[in-house]
Amino acid sequence: MKVLSTVIVRPGEADRILSGHPWVYHGSIQRLATPANDGDLVQVKDHRQRLLGAGFYNSKSKINVRMLTHDRVELDTQFFEERIRAALAVRQRYMPTATSFRVVNAESDLLSGLIVDKYEDVLVVQTSALGMDLRKDMIVTALQKIFKPRAIIERNDIASRKFEGLPEANGLLAGAHEGPLPISLNGLKFTVNLVAGHKTGLYLDQQMNYELVARFAKGAQVLDCFSFLGGFALHAARAGAASVVGIDQSADAIAAATAIAASNGLTDRCTFEQANVFDWLKAKTAVAPHEKVIPRYDLIILDPPSFTRNRASVPDAMRGYKEIHLRALKLLRPGGVLATFCCSHHVDAVLFEAAIMDAAKDTHRLLRRVASYNQSPDHPILPAIPETGYLKGFAYELVR
Ligand code: SAH
Repeated sequence: MKVLSTVIVRPGEADRILSGHPWVYHGSIQRLATPANDGDLVQVKDHRQRLLGAGFYNSKSKINVRMLTHDRVELDTQFFEERIRAALAVRQRYMPTATSFRVVNAESDLLSGLIVDKYEDVLVVQTSALGMDLRKDMIVTALQKIFKPRAIIERNDIASRKFEGLPEANGLLAGAHEGPLPISLNGLKFTVNLVAGHKTGLYLDQQMNYELVARFAKGAQVLDCFSFLGGFALHAARAGAASVVGIDQSADAIAAATAIAASNGLTDRCTFEQANVFDWLKAKTAVAPHEKVIPRYDLIILDPPSFTRNRASVPDAMRGYKEIHLRALKLLRPGGVLATFCCSHHVDAVLFEAAIMDAAKDTHRLLRRVASYNQSPDHPILPAIPETGYLKGFAYELVR
């Protein structure tokens, strides 16, 4: 086994690592007992020389070491194959019928810096840590062995690579792939653009929630705000909604969603409109003084992008969340359901619900919470790593 360089952490820093959190910040490191190159696998010890495990070193990143194991391992194709197979088994246990899903979700699968999404027989890989990026060949070989995919695409146009000193990189790593890819999600047909779409093509983290929210759709007038490819809208339409309208500001998303509705034979009751949701809701709730807004929807879905990427802008984000809830509540019929999501790590479920309750108070609405949601199980949550849990959602019935 190769001799690894050694990183010694400060007293008091070992517990977090031992409890499963894989990030060792620059400030947690006491010293390097032996020099290490960026991208190397290093062993990490506490100040008493007790082995804590091994991980990728990168002096350029704020996260100096990303832990991979608690013991000494040989970092070869077999290592990646075993980790990826273990991750795949989790998906097969909890999403047995899914054919498109996230196979590897970085820290959630003990592979900090690696994301692998499976869209039918095509895989999309993201490496956001230098150590992972340098081992792309091994990862590709392991993926080919496990999945025998038609193609493996690299989607490394993510901002977080900058923090690791990595350039943007997009393209084909193996096989052949051209044009939009038809996939099936809960039995609905979608067409995804893996080369230029949002995320790696779809918001796979909502896959289970599409079906859960669609339970409220039968016979309903449905409004899907921030609809993207129409995940919620189309599931609601299939579940028997009377009519569904999806709103998104992206013209590309609206065109794609409209085509997807057509390919599923749902055009008669599911349409999409390009607009800024804030403006759209404002226009629909604007009335003369002493007039009341007429509520028109039985199911409203709010699934906005993260309104904040950092702690500092949380107050701004809270105003944004409150505003869309305030307006959505005015458009919801009594007995109707508001299904609402927040994907910001910095706004937890308690804070998120506080914004909703604030909006309910201002609009004199009383809500009954009828469901709580998380990200789908292909984005596993490890409570030892709080960052792995980011998507939260609630459904509320309007009591009055
Ligand atoms: N519900 C979608 C995911 C939404 S992601 C799904 O399940 O797939 C957020 C979406 O909001 C993106 O498609 C983005 O184009 C859109 N968006 C962001 N800001 C917006 C705004 N102010 N008005 C309308 N759409 C917006």
